[in-house]
Amino acid sequence: MRLRARLALAFALLALVPLAVVVLPTLSRLRDTLSRELDARMQAATASAQESLERSATTARRAVEELVESPAMEDLAREARERPTRAIQAGTAEALMKTRGLTVLALFDRGGTVLSSGHLPARRGDPDPALFAVTRETSSKPVPVRVDVRTSSGLRQMPALVTARPVDYGDLRLWAVGGVLLDEGLAQHLARLTQAQVTLVSGDAEFARAGTALPPTVSREVPLGEAATVKLVFSRAAAREAEEGVMRAFLLLAGLGGAFAVLLGLLVSRWMTRPVEALTEGARRVAEGALDVQVTAVASGEVGELVRTFNHMTSEMRATTERLVASERIAAWQEVARRLAHEIKNPLTPIRMSLETLLAAQEARHPRFPELFKESAGVVLEEVDRLRRIVDEFSRFARMPKPQLAPVDLSELTQSVLALYSTPPEGIRILPALQTGVVARVDRDMLTQVLVNLVKNAEEAMAGKGGDLRVRVKGTDADAVIEVEDSGPGIPAEHRARIFEPYFTTKEGGTGLGLAIAARILQEHGGKLEVGGEPGLGARFSIVLPRSEGMGISAPVPVS
Ligand code: ADP
Repeated sequence: MRLRARLALAFALLALVPLAVVVLPTLSRLRDTLSRELDARMQAATASAQESLERSATTARRAVEELVESPAMEDLAREARERPTRAIQAGTAEALMKTRGLTVLALFDRGGTVLSSGHLPARRGDPDPALFAVTRETSSKPVPVRVDVRTSSGLRQMPALVTARPVDYGDLRLWAVGGVLLDEGLAQHLARLTQAQVTLVSGDAEFARAGTALPPTVSREVPLGEAATVKLVFSRAAAREAEEGVMRAFLLLAGLGGAFAVLLGLLVSRWMTRPVEALTEGARRVAEGALDVQVTAVASGEVGELVRTFNHMTSEMRATTERLVASERIAAWQEVARRLAHEIKNPLTPIRMSLETLLAAQEARHPRFPELFKESAGVVLEEVDRLRRIVDEFSRFARMPKPQLAPVDLSELTQSVLALYSTPPEGIRILPALQTGVVARVDRDMLTQVLVNLVKNAEEAMAGKGGDLRVRVKGTDADAVIEVEDSGPGIPAEHRARIFEPYFTTKEGGTGLGLAIAARILQEHGGKLEVGGEPGLGARFSIVLPRSEGMGISAPVPVS
């Protein structure tokens, strides 16, 4: 992963981690608080439901007590002692029940037969053991029981809170059993009170329901003996919504924060990595040999220091290289001078000897002095000629004029050089392969001199035995190349490093300056001369020049 991406990621993490560290515990605390709050609400609601049931029971008890102690009841009892069937009729209990605000009331005789029933008038004359059982309760509080009632859908059992009180008149004993039905009305009252959904359940049957509770829900049960259970269902929707709201806010924050952090990370890393990247690029270019690289990226602190050090290092390297090159050049010239002196010394010995011979002959008045003189003068002249040649060659080498550059089509130039060899020596075949349109800016005369030299060397290498001389012109994107390849003996490995040295020659009468001059010419052109080929199989010399864009030359000049 690149430094830039890593930094952006680090920034994003840096933004998200604290957010997560803050939000996740907050969320869990919020959940706790909400559920505690719900618990408390449920507890309170359950308590108030219980209270409300209690109150209903108390009201029912009072109503029954007041009823049995009322003068109306006393009158009824008295009359019933005398004429029971007339005094207590089917509607009697209903009238009493309604005036007292009760929903259950039955008048029993001592034996448990219903004399009159307010909630189920049809029961008159029949026993109702379930309801009559309440008379045996020891507690004065109402108890939950199931009571038969007539509803629109027929006879039904419904839970009720009922209590029983005796009514005595002389030897007559009646029982008044009354209370309140746990019905729809109660459920609605409880639902309003608790904000929950209230269901009254008896056994498996649900007989009243009021209020609503959106899911998700939790429920509580308030048992009322065996007769019934009040089920309270509370909604957790509001709490859930609050949690989700916080979660949404967190996600939004995380998304925005993350995006912002990544953006910031990218910006910062760009700002931070730009000098580093510039340095990397600079180092790469130095490795490729460009010593004058200077990094211009603006940076402060340690990176700025690094940039300054890098720039200092490259300029130092450049200076050092220049010094090295200069001292190498001096050393090379010293070598040239040494060899030149050696070359000059060689003809001096025969000249001196000739002159000494002449002087001795003249002193001795040698009879063959005239012939000796002629002979010696010939030697001296010959050696002087050799000296002049040496000096001429040297001055050609030393006085390298500045090349006059102009765009030249290399295949055209090569063709004109090869035209000089239209009749090659015996056994030598010249095989040109010239790509057209390969153009370089060169000094035409100088490049011709180089090429002539390479072709001449190739021919000399194959002299006697014969062989193939391949001359190619080819271009890459950056380079323009002329190759001269022969099938001669090639260059032994131990000579390879030396063939470009001035005065290195393996030939009888060779000057050893041809390749040295060619290499210098190409150097002046910003190009180079490369040597290749296999010893024993042939030599290959490549002229490599910087290629320049076309100059309108496309058609090759025909070979003359
Ligand atoms: P000269 O031709 O006067 O010897 P050069 O500088 O042209 O001087 O060549 C130097 C030496 O390089 C030659 O003497 C020879 O040994 C070697 N050389 C040059 N060209 C070739 C070639 N095509 N095949 C083999 N050897 C070569």
